[in-house]
Amino acid sequence: MLTSAVQAAFVIAAVLFVLSLAGLSRQETARRGNILGMVGMVLALAATVVLAVDQSQRDALVTLVLIALVLIVGAAVGVRRAQRVEMTQMPELIAILHSFVGLAAVLVGINSYLTEAVAHPIAVAPLSGQIFYAQPDAVHLVEVFLGVLIGAVTFTGSIVAYLKLSARMKSSPLTLPGRNWLNLGALVACAGLLTWFLVEPGIWPLLAMTVIALALGWHLVAAIGGGDMPVVVSMLNSYSGWAAAATGFMLSNDLLIITGALVGSSGAILSFIMCRAMNRSFVSVILGGFGSDGGAPAPGGGADDGSHGVHTEIQAAEVAELLKEARTVVITPGYGMAVAKAQYPVADLVSRLRAQGVQVRFGVHPVAGRLPGHMNVLLAEAKVPYDIVLEMDEINDDLADTDVVLVIGANDTVNPAALDDPHSPIAGMPVLRVWDAGQVIVFKRSMATGYAGVQNPLFFRENTAMLFGDAKTQVEAIVQAL
Ligand code: NDP
Repeated sequence: MLTSAVQAAFVIAAVLFVLSLAGLSRQETARRGNILGMVGMVLALAATVVLAVDQSQRDALVTLVLIALVLIVGAAVGVRRAQRVEMTQMPELIAILHSFVGLAAVLVGINSYLTEAVAHPIAVAPLSGQIFYAQPDAVHLVEVFLGVLIGAVTFTGSIVAYLKLSARMKSSPLTLPGRNWLNLGALVACAGLLTWFLVEPGIWPLLAMTVIALALGWHLVAAIGGGDMPVVVSMLNSYSGWAAAATGFMLSNDLLIITGALVGSSGAILSFIMCRAMNRSFVSVILGGFGSDGGAPAPGGGADDGSHGVHTEIQAAEVAELLKEARTVVITPGYGMAVAKAQYPVADLVSRLRAQGVQVRFGVHPVAGRLPGHMNVLLAEAKVPYDIVLEMDEINDDLADTDVVLVIGANDTVNPAALDDPHSPIAGMPVLRVWDAGQVIVFKRSMATGYAGVQNPLFFRENTAMLFGDAKTQVEAIVQAL
């Protein structure tokens, strides 16, 4: 009776997760999607606790107290962290959360091996005293092995992603000699260890594989350059889902299998979309930059050493004059808008210009900011109407007919070197062709490079003017002048 109720709760939670994903795929329904996901998770947690207490081999009360304790500690840390985190720190928070899923898969796998898969005595012959052992189930051994493997790769890979995204580690790629052979060697060694583990299910092949997988995860992500980090984050999201699904198999928990598969496949689809948006090979990125130079910045490509030409500066009042004359304006926001929290004055500027009959639209690059959909979230937060927020492909052809483009805190996503310079680390990445417009105004604080560490020739074009300073202060100054 109890098991059926728990199973029913699992099915409802799984349906809620599917509805949640469907809701999250559109801005208008994202809030509802979030709520459905949260309700599903509460239901899933409650059902899991009931099941754990019911199946507990020790005192049910002790189990309940232990679960309640870890839930309270986990929830307290989570709430505190969520309240403190800045929007710009979200990608690194997500990366570290992925590492927890990976670590959990490793711990659950080793625990599952020690408690279930390991050969345990089932009978003793009365006369000879010979001990008979239960044969470990080969399927379960494979589940344990794969769960620990995926979990370990996810764990260290996510830690490197966290260190890179939080600038605690250089974002440039680690290019060890023969790095692709190292990755291949690690996979072959793991296959060999799996065979050993199945033939002789001891702890050593499992532990040896864990160490190799930890090193592999570290190396795979360390080998990826700054510009490709968006794909890595979504790829680790996918890995964390597969790690959770593998854990579900080990624990015979259907909901964990379904949830893991949902996260794994949606993360893989997102990685694929991001790869397409950045013109990168999916296989190359998941194999740690296989077949590419990893996007290493070209020598001298980062610093403004004067070789790119001279730039023109402009003041906020002059920009206001330009905007008064303009008929069509496009705003391309980037990471700097998030840092400056400029979305509110930007929304104010937009509504003033629209009130004066100017056509204003946004052009959002798929990897602008530091997480998928970053700019869309900020603009929605500032109540910018959805219908004027267009994707890169929807706006690019209209830029040639645009009077003024305001590049607010964007850099790599508007860099013409991606199209013009085959040696650039971001070569081949589609970008917003803002230079096609009549006049481009770039809002930033200095001539510093963007996330990929490459200088931007846009800043030195004739129809570009630099408006230096904090984006929020400058947009407010323009609104004031208007
Ligand atoms: P970039 O990171 O290329 O550039 C941001 C610019 O904002 C910088 O040049 C900086 O210049 C400026 N800036 C920073 N703070 C302020 C401020 N307070 N006021 C005004 N300007 C400011 O941004 P993009 O959005 O164009 O590109 C995103 C990059 O991040 C891409 O390389 C992408 O691959 C990568 N990435 C994206 C992820 C995603 O999922 N979207 C995840 C991980 C990486 P200055 O310092 O001079 O002010």
